[in-house]
Amino acid sequence: MNIELQCCALFIIFTIAVMFLREKKLDLMNRVLFQRAICACFACLIFDILSIILINKSVHQGFSPDVTKIVCKLYIMLLVLQGYFGYVYAATSLLPRDRKWAVTARYAYHTIFAAGEVLMLLLPIEFTAEGRVVFSYGPSTTIAYILSAIYILSTIITTLIYRKHMPGRRFTAMLLWQGIWLLAAVIQFIEPQILLVGFASSFGMVILYIQLENPSEYVDGSTGLFTSNALSVYVHDKYRFDKSFSIFTAKIHYMTNYVDYNMEQAAVMRTAKALMALGPEPAFRIDDDTFCVLYDNKERMFEKAADIKRQKDGVTDLPAKGTYLLIPDSMMMNGPDEFFRFLHTYLENEQEITIADEDLLKKLRAQNRVKGMIEEALQDDRVEVFYQPFYNVREGRFNVAEALVRIRLENGDIVPPGEFISIAEENGQIIPLGIRVVEKVCKFLSSKEAQAHGLDQVEINVSAAQFDNENPAKLIMQHIEEYGIDPGMINLEITETAAGENRDIMIRNMERLIRQGVSFSLDDFGTGRSNIDYFVNMPVRTIKFDYSFTQGFFDNEKIKHVLTGMVDVVHKMNLKVVVEGIETEEQMMVMKEMGVEFIQGFYFSRPIPEDDFMAFLKKNNG
Ligand code: C2E
Ligand code: CA
Ligand code: CA
Repeated sequence: MNIELQCCALFIIFTIAVMFLREKKLDLMNRVLFQRAICACFACLIFDILSIILINKSVHQGFSPDVTKIVCKLYIMLLVLQGYFGYVYAATSLLPRDRKWAVTARYAYHTIFAAGEVLMLLLPIEFTAEGRVVFSYGPSTTIAYILSAIYILSTIITTLIYRKHMPGRRFTAMLLWQGIWLLAAVIQFIEPQILLVGFASSFGMVILYIQLENPSEYVDGSTGLFTSNALSVYVHDKYRFDKSFSIFTAKIHYMTNYVDYNMEQAAVMRTAKALMALGPEPAFRIDDDTFCVLYDNKERMFEKAADIKRQKDGVTDLPAKGTYLLIPDSMMMNGPDEFFRFLHTYLENEQEITIADEDLLKKLRAQNRVKGMIEEALQDDRVEVFYQPFYNVREGRFNVAEALVRIRLENGDIVPPGEFISIAEENGQIIPLGIRVVEKVCKFLSSKEAQAHGLDQVEINVSAAQFDNENPAKLIMQHIEEYGIDPGMINLEITETAAGENRDIMIRNMERLIRQGVSFSLDDFGTGRSNIDYFVNMPVRTIKFDYSFTQGFFDNEKIKHVLTGMVDVVHKMNLKVVVEGIETEEQMMVMKEMGVEFIQGFYFSRPIPEDDFMAFLKKNNG
């Protein structure tokens, strides 16, 4: 009898079903649909085998043809059900849920399916067996062929249309699955003695299982918690089907620098155990030391979060503390992207407990708008550099200028750096932005026109964040060389004490650049962003007294003494002084008398665009 392939297929499906059902899994829509598809496949195979046996019995041994016909009908009805479930499995995660046409399509497919099943039940069916060629035919079977074709093709077309909305792996798996099915059907149609369809469908399930629905991929090997991939899929599923949830996350912070593997492992395992003991809700390990649990409502979440915090506070033998981020209602975010942005931003909060609220969300959105603005400005070349000249007191001319970045909006408006630098520092955009400024300055200097009008040096601001890896020196030199600039024309203004290890990297970067001829200033002196340690130990040539410091000079007798003394100290160390923020003639005269080398301020000029700056040099340097 021609049932070997079907029996193999049955074994395969059985194995997958057992593995799938035994493993720990998340309650995802796709999982439910996959489970349904496996059941349909299983039932279909059983009726496939049964129908072949009965057809043979009826043809050769006179078994009741009516019973055989009923079994044949059940088989093809299940076959169509399987195709239908396949389509639903694909479409549910792909088609938009809120569009009218998609809703209509869903109903149409339901109706076609239901009508088809009724027709198959009512219309006549025949069967035949001749050696290994066993099959059923007649109007009922024809309907089954047509419907199967509709579902297979719909699945393939949907997959093709929405390929951009799914990971590449999903795309390949879906096409392979449906393609194998289609191929098997065509072969079986041409050569009826090769009964391939049943085998092909179970083979397709293997592909789906391994590639898409294998739950072990979502489970963290060492703790048994779900992984961050699982969280991503789970959260997307929740938003897609409008199910609100609450989440709390806990992050372990070690309070010593010497965290050894055993200690870390102990902390992680204890946390994992405590989380799993909380209840049946899914717990995730989303990072080496970050965990979260999802709840259906916030009351339960708050209760459990308090529980975990109490347990953690009771732990005294591990030098670690916890920070907690609680999101009481997922619906305050407008989708999974914003949800994860929120999570990743505020997971870094130093505060012990952070509870998501409208204010935090507003802040996040504002930051995100700024991030988008910087990104677009970099892309569309709308990052501009303005120049503010320094007056060289000894030489009585303007031979140095500070480069100050601006973003020009599409409508022509200018955004000052105060609105975006700190955000760029936080999210890493300061790296490309800072390099862009260097490039613009080099390009400006490459025409040598400014030099012809007395410009000797441009000062460029660099944030500590720009210097905390090994590359910046190389990148900066690349631009200087590319534009053929004398490195002595570039001076970098640095601030903020880079701590510990980063400080060494910073000094290495500085020394590399100094060897090439670039020089450094200490910016914002007197604000607490820069301290004395800096100009004692850092290879800087100039100290810039901050705006607030120089303003204080004119308002406050004590600051006046400190500043006068500091200028003296700086000079004794053979360093030069720039004072910032000089706005009036009177202020300018006082500073001149104090013997500072450079004066910068609105009194001489505000930061101005390249062209205006060239005009300024021509007019004032002769
Ligand atoms: P900063 O380095 O302290 O730059 C001096 C700031 O003081 C500039 O503000 C300048 O316009 C302003 N200023 C100059 N003279 C006067 C004055 O007489 N009165 C007053 N009230 N203000 C004066 P700006 O251009 O808005 O820059 C703000 C800050 O943004 C800069 O402070 C600097 O920390 C940062 N920044 C600017 N460009 C860059 C850049 O390319 N990279 C980095 N990392 N930071 C930059
Ligand atoms: Ca500066
Ligand atoms: Ca300053």
